[in-house]
Amino acid sequence: MYAIKVELKLNNVEKTIMNQHLGFSRFCYNYALSIYSQLDHKQYKGSSSKKIDLIKKIFTNVTKKAPVFAWTLAMSSRVYQNAFRALKTAFSRHWKGLGGLPKFKKKKNPGSFTVDSSNGVILQKGGHQIKLPTLGIFRTTESIPKCASQTYTVSKRGARYYVSFAINAELIPPIQHEVVQPVGIDVNLSDGKYCVISDGTMVAFPKPLKAAITKLEKLQYHNRNKQLGNRKEKISPSNNARKYYKKLAIFHKKVADARNDFLQKLTTDLARKYRHIKLETLNIKGMMANGKLAMNIADASFYKFKTLLLNKADSHGGCVESVNQWYPSSKLCSNCGNKKLDLKLSERVYHCEQCNLIIDRDLNSAINLKLASVEHIINRTGSARINACGHDTADGHGKAVMQGSRK
Ligand SMILES: [Zn+2]
Repeated sequence: MYAIKVELKLNNVEKTIMNQHLGFSRFCYNYALSIYSQLDHKQYKGSSSKKIDLIKKIFTNVTKKAPVFAWTLAMSSRVYQNAFRALKTAFSRHWKGLGGLPKFKKKKNPGSFTVDSSNGVILQKGGHQIKLPTLGIFRTTESIPKCASQTYTVSKRGARYYVSFAINAELIPPIQHEVVQPVGIDVNLSDGKYCVISDGTMVAFPKPLKAAITKLEKLQYHNRNKQLGNRKEKISPSNNARKYYKKLAIFHKKVADARNDFLQKLTTDLARKYRHIKLETLNIKGMMANGKLAMNIADASFYKFKTLLLNKADSHGGCVESVNQWYPSSKLCSNCGNKKLDLKLSERVYHCEQCNLIIDRDLNSAINLKLASVEHIINRTGSARINACGHDTADGHGKAVMQGSRK
């Protein structure tokens, strides 16, 4: 079993439906908790689970039928079933010493709600849509595989909505990678690029993200002297400083969300297309070449990129190999193997004096990563079978059947 979480692409009507159900779930949870806390526990004996079942009966037979609560009839009944179940779980966790007493859910935390199908699993056709039991069909920002699951949890973070569900790995159809041969990927933020793949594919750094980062940096620069007070010197923050820090937090979140979206989509695409990926271990080179932007963004994003890619390659039946950081991928000529000793970071084109090759510097690096022999490989993850020479041992048709490595 493993979990899938994707963002939902909702129109305003659909957002309203989700918001109503988030509210409904919170209402049911708080309703049950409120009655529970008012119970005279000396008079009513029994487990918290039994008491909550009793409260649910009252809710179903009395409260839901009251005219004031007529709005609850329009809501999915699966949501309130699951809200009561969540409260039971919260109490049982508490009694086991795993958490505090359940607290009332607050409106400022949008939280989540769960819907499940009472008629067994729901088959998902795959692609950019998902069927949620009792709610209907919704679009997703990323495509999902053909799969089946019974329980779906919708959550809201900021202004975004996500759905998560668990699937059986065995139910995923065999994955056909478009490219079975190894490819090297050179992650290097330069000239508007994010990374270059040895087959010549160039992945651009998203312009909106770059614009957001520039805006953030300007905002920080113009407010470089603002302080959010100083408790030791008893200086309280000015109104403008407060406003600025609030704005800054919103900006940081925007950048983080945009970066996360980009990396999620990119790694999904890569894991689907390429079966065997070779990556550098650490991208110090890329960070140095790009000064401020790189220091802020590349370091954080490279680790995230790599972590996501490792996980996704594994779940798509592919593999990722890490090439050690001493392998001179940018200095070697990808054509004749000649090693340049004096390659400046500013030289964006690689020119080999020995064989006269003229090639984009990052593409040259990517091809060298692809060619890296087994002694340069320090780590390999994934379920694809690769023999000691680094060659793919599959039947050559890109058939890699999911292996149950994540049960
Ligand atoms: Zn050469």
